[in-house]
Formats: sequence, C-alpha cells, structure tokens
Amino acid sequence: MEIDHILDKAEASPRALTRAELAALLSAEDADALFARALAVRMRASGRGVSMRGLIEAGNVCSKDCLYCGIRKGNAKVRRYEMGADEIVAEAVAAFKAGYGSVVVQSGEIASPARTAFVEDVLKRIRDAAGDGFGITLSLGEQDEETYMRWRAAGAHRYLLRIETSDPALYAKIHPADHSWQRRVEALRALARCGYQVGTGVMCGLPGQTFDSLAADIEFFAQIDADMIGMGPFIPHPDTPLGASAPWNAQIAAERLDLGLRMIAATRLYLHDVNIAAATALQALAPDGRERGLLAGANVVMPNVTPARYRADYKLYVGKPCIGENAADCRACIQRRIESAGGTVLWNERGDSPHWRKKCSHS
Ligand code: SAH
Repeated sequence: MEIDHILDKAEASPRALTRAELAALLSAEDADALFARALAVRMRASGRGVSMRGLIEAGNVCSKDCLYCGIRKGNAKVRRYEMGADEIVAEAVAAFKAGYGSVVVQSGEIASPARTAFVEDVLKRIRDAAGDGFGITLSLGEQDEETYMRWRAAGAHRYLLRIETSDPALYAKIHPADHSWQRRVEALRALARCGYQVGTGVMCGLPGQTFDSLAADIEFFAQIDADMIGMGPFIPHPDTPLGASAPWNAQIAAERLDLGLRMIAATRLYLHDVNIAAATALQALAPDGRERGLLAGANVVMPNVTPARYRADYKLYVGKPCIGENAADCRACIQRRIESAGGTVLWNERGDSPHWRKKCSHS
C-alpha cells in the first residue's frame, strides 16, 4: 500500500518524492511494480523508441587514479593505447553510415593544450563528414571551461561526466586525496554554461553506500538539471585498490544488478523526461542486463563500435561483454535485444532528451 501510494505520486508529476520515499522505492521488497511504473513513465515521455549511440573507446591513457577503475594510472598491468585522429574519425563516420544517429567518444582523462587541439580537430572532421545533425557526445573527464567551449564550438553537443556519488565523504573514500568532488561539480556547471546537454550519473553498490545516499544522488541529478543519466552497478576490478578488497560472488552480482535497475527506475520516476542509458555494466552482470534496463525505464543504449583490437584493453571492470565482437555484430545483436524488450530502434536519429527539447523551447 505504502509503495503503491509513492508510485502514484511519482507517476503523477516529476520531482514529487521526498528523499525517504526515493529510498523506500530503492529498498522495496518487490521491485516489479517499481519497474512497471517506471516503464509507463518512460513510454509517456519518449514512447517505444530507443536511442542509439555508438561508443568509441578512444584511449585508455589516464592521468587519474580512481580507486575502483581498471584503467587508473596506477594499474601497471594495462596495455595502454590511444586511437589516432584518423582512426577515431573513421569509426565515427562508419557508425554514421551504419545508421547511428550519434556517437560517444570516451577515454581516460588527459588535460593538456595538445589534447584540447587534438579533440577539436577530430570533432571538426567528424562534423564535416557527417553534418550538423549527427550527435557527438564526449566523455573525456574534467577539463577547463575554455576547453569545453572549444569542443562545443567544434561540434560536440553533449557531455557525460558522472559525479560517481553525490556524497563528498563517500567520493573521498573512493578517490585519491588530490581528486576533488567540488571540482567535478564545477565541471558539470561549466558544461551547462557552454551549452552542452549534460549527462551525469553514479555507480551503485559502492562500499559504504546507503539507500539514503543513492536517493540523494537522484536529487542531485535534479539539482544540476541533468539532461541525461548514465548509471551502473559497481563491479570490482581485481587490479584496483577498491576492487581487490570488495567481496564478489554470484549472489552479490545478482543483487548489484537489481540495485542498478532500481536506480534506473527510481530516477525515471523522479525526473520523467531525461534520457537514461542502459549501461554496458548491466550486461556484464547478466546477458539480458540492458534489456532489463530498458524495461526498468532506460531509453538509450550505447553499443560498442570500438575496433575489436582495442576493446580488451579498455576494461574499467571485469566481465566486460562483447570484447571479441566488431561493430556490425553489435548492431544486429542490439536491434534484436531492443525489440525483445518491446522497443523500437531509432536509427538515424540524434535522440536529444525530451527534457532538453523542452528547455530549448522555453528559452
Ligand atoms: N575519463 C572519463 C570516462 C570515465 S570511464 C571520465 O572521467 O568521466 C566511465 C565510467 O566508468 C566512470 O565514470 C565510472 O562511473 C565507470 N566505472 C569505472 N570503474 C568502474 C567499475 N569498477 N565498475 C563500474 N563502473 C566503473
């Protein structure tokens, strides 16, 4: 009864729940009603359509040392690679020709004048080849506002920068001392000022994380007025400080997947009209993890279009799926999977979130 009442309120209007009510959804005994309501809200906001982004993992060289991440600077076991500009442009254009309305270029974090110029050149070349209607999302970490501005002017429309957790104390436990939660928030605000559609998100199932903290994460998404959300379960990587000590077995994996799906559903019920990705990390925990993400309220998937030879080296967590596949394999597979979850693939569409489109029509 209690849960039904919360779901009624959430479905009726966005941002209607208290933090305690969000936490109650995340910890409810039976999540089926939660998933069903979130799916109903997704259908109302964006229908059966599922937006596609081809994901290019452009390099794993990173100056950061996040305690959970497999490509952290301190992991000497990683074979480092950087795709060249020609290669990144070729993959983006191939994705465009294959019907992807947008791509995401993601990599480890490098901040330097040379890096800024390199990415700027790549963006201009992709835009020249694919035109202005093609969506380009960047996920290249924290940069200064001028760099964000230059990349925006060169053709990037959207930027993904997860806050990882909205709790500064928890953030400090999962990062080295010189990584700053405040700086990350500032970066998110700079991105909004530069006119990007801003995406953020968190990992769920971090050591010490509570339902209350995850509920606060969802409130944080509203506070920064995010247009897109990408969230995923924390999956320990054995060659990292946090991963080496985190317990892991089949039961924990199943619970972590369930928590990831609950976060998608509760976020959909709180924000209604943002884009929410069914992250690859869901699929790492179950073969049908992304389909379940769509049924819990997600409306975006990001099939990997990175050349097969690099995929195994971009391992943020263990069990990453599809590392032996190429872009064409992923395209056919994902279409089948999305249709099995009652969705329709939006090929050749940029797929801006309804939330963003509403903001634009008001200003
Ligand atoms: N360098 C970019 C891209 C980071 S990788 C940036 O700083 O934004 C993309 C995301 O992978 C991270 O934001 C983090 O949330 C996620 N990730 C990293 N390690 C992970 C792990 N062990 N389990 C689950 N997700 C992880």
